Amino acid sequence: AKQNGRARWMMFDQTMQEGALRRLTLEAELRLALDANQLFLQYQPIITPGDGMISGFEALLRWRHPVLGMISPLEFIPVAEEVGLIGQIGSWVLEAACLQLREWQRGRALPLSMSVNVSAVQLAGGELVKVVTRVLAETGIAHGSLKLELTESAVMADADHALAVFKELKALGVRLSLDDFGTGYSSLSHLRRLPIDTLKIDRSFVSAMDSHSDKRQIAEVVVMLARTLGLDVVAEGVETRAELDILREMGSDFVQGYFYFRPLDAAAATLALADEAS
Ligand code: C2E
Ligand code: CA
Ligand code: CA
Ligand code: CA
Repeated sequence: AKQNGRARWMMFDQTMQEGALRRLTLEAELRLALDANQLFLQYQPIITPGDGMISGFEALLRWRHPVLGMISPLEFIPVAEEVGLIGQIGSWVLEAACLQLREWQRGRALPLSMSVNVSAVQLAGGELVKVVTRVLAETGIAHGSLKLELTESAVMADADHALAVFKELKALGVRLSLDDFGTGYSSLSHLRRLPIDTLKIDRSFVSAMDSHSDKRQIAEVVVMLARTLGLDVVAEGVETRAELDILREMGSDFVQGYFYFRPLDAAAATLALADEAS
C-alpha cells in the first residue's frame, strides 16, 4: 500500500509541478502586472435586440504577459483573490472603465452604460462602497450609467451582507446586475429583497438553446421571473441568429455575445460606436 501510495505521489508530483510553477509565476508577476501596464480592458457591446443598437458595454479584464502571452481572467482573477490583489486590481478596473465611459459619453446624446464585474472577494471585503464612491466623484460619470455585475453565487453566499452593501450602492445611484444567473441557487425570498436591476442569463442556457428545450425553458423562466420582479434581463453568450431570435421572442431586454460583437479593444469599440452614429 505504501509502495502504491508513493507511486501515486510521484505521478501527482509530476503533473502538479508544471501547474504549481505556473501558478507561482502568475502569483509573483501579477503583483507587477498593473504597474507594467500588462493589464488592460476589452469592451463587449450590450445590444438592444429590437434595433441592434449598442446600449452599453461590459468591461472585461485582460492580462498580456510578456512571456506567457494572453492569460484568461478565469485563471488569474482567482489568483488575485487568493493573494490579496483583487482590491487593487478591481479598483483599477473600475476607474479605467469609468474613464472610458466618460470619453465615449462626451458628445453623445444617447446614454451609454458601463458594466463592471465585481468579485466575490470585493463584495465580502469592506472597501467596495468607498471605492465606487471615489471613482464616481473622480470621473464625474452619471451614477446610473454604472452597472456593477456580481455573480448570483457570490451574492447568495452571504445574502444578508450583500443586501447591506447593495443598499449603500443603490443609495449612490449605481445599478446592480446578478451575473451568471441560473447557476447559483438563488432563494426567491432573497431575490425579492435585493435591490437589483438586472438578471444576466448565464451563457450555459443560451448556448445551443435552439436545439435544447430544457435550456430554453430555463431562460424563459428567468425572463418571467425578471418580469415579475420588475427587472431587466440580459442574455449573454448569444452566438447565433437562432439563439437571438428565441431571446427576442422571449422578450430579453438586452443581448450580448459573439453574434454581434466579441470583446473589443477600446479603439475598436470606439469605431463600433462611431459606425452606429453614421
Ligand atoms: P463573465 O462576467 O460571465 O463574462 C462573460 C464572458 O463570456 C467573457 O469571458 C466573454 O468574453 C465571454 N463571452 C461573451 N460573449 C460570448 C459568446 O458569444 N460566446 C462565448 N463562448 N463566450 C462569450 P472572459 O472575458 O474570458 O471573462 C471570463 C470571466 O472572468 C468573466 O465572466 C468574469 O467572471 C471574469 N472577469 C472578467 N473581467 C473581470 C474583472 O474586471 N473583474 C472580475 N472580478 N472578474 C472579471
Ligand atoms: Ca459579467
Ligand atoms: Ca456572466
Ligand atoms: Ca459566465
